[in-house]
Amino acid sequence: MNLEQIKYHTCDLDDCDGILLVDVETETLADTDVDGNMQYYCLEGHHTFSVDEDEAYD
Ligand SMILES: [Zn+2]
Repeated sequence: MNLEQIKYHTCDLDDCDGILLVDVETETLADTDVDGNMQYYCLEGHHTFSVDEDEAYD
């Protein structure tokens, strides 16, 4: 998995940039949600959101 390619994702709620939540020390993926979706932090809305990888990158 290439982290650079999935590092940013547009927030569906307010159409702003979100950044992938990663462990800052290891730069590995942070915890996923209960469905195993990746977690992003919305830089404008200051909230987290999850992305279903299968749907997001069709
Ligand atoms: Zn947002």
